[in-house]
Amino acid sequence: MEPSDFTLTQYQILLYHLQKFGYTPLTVHQYLSENINRNSGHFVILRHDIDRRIHKSVQFAHIESQLNISASYYFRYHALQNPEIIACVSQLGHEIGYHYEVISRASGNLNQAKALFEEDLRKFRDICPVHTVCMHGAPLSRFENLSFWETYRLEDFKLSGEGFLSIQDVQYLSDTGRSWSSLHNLRDRLPGDRGIEFNSQLISTQDLINYIAEKHPPRLYLVTHPERWSEDCIEWFYSYGFDTLCNVGKEIIKEFRG
Ligand SMILES: [Zn+2]
Repeated sequence: MEPSDFTLTQYQILLYHLQKFGYTPLTVHQYLSENINRNSGHFVILRHDIDRRIHKSVQFAHIESQLNISASYYFRYHALQNPEIIACVSQLGHEIGYHYEVISRASGNLNQAKALFEEDLRKFRDICPVHTVCMHGAPLSRFENLSFWETYRLEDFKLSGEGFLSIQDVQYLSDTGRSWSSLHNLRDRLPGDRGIEFNSQLISTQDLINYIAEKHPPRLYLVTHPERWSEDCIEWFYSYGFDTLCNVGKEIIKEFRG
């Protein structure tokens, strides 16, 4: 991997190619609510999970809005301390969603998880409309946040979708582990996804662009974490070091669970 990968410029290049190859960009909410003919036309759902360093979301939001692209931004509860950032991303034309982790926060207590979910959702909706939510993987927790939906329904919270459960029959591509292969993903994949076999050759963003140019897969679901994408070298090395550390940690967990 080159230091020039996973930079804002590289993200702009990726978006440029997606548009050039004829992909219609969609938010999660658009994908669920608009009458998309899923057998014709190519589309890419753009999802951003804002796990840390939430100010990075504004940079991404600007880049996309300059290209007339709307994406979905999922913020964790910490982000409610900076409502101005959430409002800014929303005003740039993007979808705001709640990146929930209530099962791990409540250590599996469902009633407590529901109370947290309702409280956070209300606070997000005080800032802007929220139609969809998306699980935060909490890779180091033994709790599975998606299990919330074994008890509750999206309609209970006037939601139209969940970023993992409501989207099917797409090719899921995530920058988790600072690579487009799925090798470092513990929880970041769709249920039943066989991403490892499909994506193991995709390391750099240029690999991804080459792959899309060659195969032209019709339905893409692109998940990025803006905190991993930097512009200057110092920030890049700091972030690269963190990701490498996380991947080592996840390998240990996989060994442990396996
Ligand atoms: Zn997350």
